[in-house]
Amino acid sequence: MVFTEKLREIQTPCYYYNIELLKKTLEKINTESGKYPAFHVHYAVKANANPVLLQIISSYGIGADCVSGNEIQRALECGFPVDKIVYAGVGKSDAEIEIALQNDIFCFNSESLPEIRVINEIAGRMHKKARIALRINPNVDAHTHHYITTGIEENKFGIYLYDLNHVIEETLQLPHTELIGLHFHIGSQITDMNVFRSLCLKVNEIQQQLQNRGIRLPHVNFGGGLGTEYNTPYGEPIADFENYFATFARFYEPLPHQHIHFELGRSVIAHCGDLIAKVLYVKEGRNKKFAILDAGMNDLLRPALYQAFHKIENISSDRPEEKYDVVGPICESSDCFGKDVSLNEVSRGDLIVIHTAGAYGETMSSRYNLRDLPQTYFSE
Ligand SMILES: *Cc1c(COP(=O)(O)O)cnc(C)c1O
Repeated sequence: MVFTEKLREIQTPCYYYNIELLKKTLEKINTESGKYPAFHVHYAVKANANPVLLQIISSYGIGADCVSGNEIQRALECGFPVDKIVYAGVGKSDAEIEIALQNDIFCFNSESLPEIRVINEIAGRMHKKARIALRINPNVDAHTHHYITTGIEENKFGIYLYDLNHVIEETLQLPHTELIGLHFHIGSQITDMNVFRSLCLKVNEIQQQLQNRGIRLPHVNFGGGLGTEYNTPYGEPIADFENYFATFARFYEPLPHQHIHFELGRSVIAHCGDLIAKVLYVKEGRNKKFAILDAGMNDLLRPALYQAFHKIENISSDRPEEKYDVVGPICESSDCFGKDVSLNEVSRGDLIVIHTAGAYGETMSSRYNLRDLPQTYFSE
């Protein structure tokens, strides 16, 4: 990102979104998924729920993957058609289930029998029939950070394979639910396509077993998880959707006329947003320097939460590089965006860009320390 006069005016800390890149990314997603007529793409709203961005995303005909009642409402407000909204989450409240049923969303991705029983009961009370896909924990390791691995048995997510037959049998008995599919989401920031290949092979196996028992479901949903390159923000900013969709087309064996769904979050939006902060102070320690920013972990939690790496750049300086620990103002030692980061020599007032912060950035921001929420700016 280059320093421009326009940036002199902005209030920091702020998220700065590149709308042109978002549109290019969405076009690419549509081109690549469009090669396979059975493929349907949903955007995982939790990655970034900013209404301006959601309206653009929905205008590309993409569906929404929601994980709360409020996300369902936000998705509807931002133009996502109700018949393209899916709803996942390991702990859906009664009120949230009611919101979903009232609106007649396309499908619940359900994670346990106790939840399915409650959905059935509430649907009965509301004289509705709830469409359900079973979120299965396929015990496939995503080989990603343990906080964002969701598809192995030690995680809380999904229905465990040893439980599946029992869950299916009971669900099929319930009068107010209709079992329409299987759902999987094994983790996030997956960059190795072999992981998706393993998922396909596992799903083929599960589907074969179901078919042997006469069960054929019209929908399968592979969740999200496609990773983003965080190291080189000026490299290729659009994820390898071609290879991603091709992997599923090649290794998954669909039933005739089956619809295949995806729920991409990070790979849609991560590169489209940067966090911009101002340097408050440069503090010299015994053998290191700290660049103290006006942005903190309440603005961008990922480094503190997942030890996530974000490329950091000083766009106000072209003086020689020095090493800094780049930290925020919050009273937590984990409030650190990077250690020993090489930056052009920093002084008070410089603008610092923390790159690739479009996904799980603004949505995770909080008012911890009673700080204000970050501002947002858009490139057009
Ligand atoms: C978070 C989430 C996604 C999106 O994951 P990304 O890694 O951001 O693509 C998709 N589906 C479900 C169920 C999720 O919880």
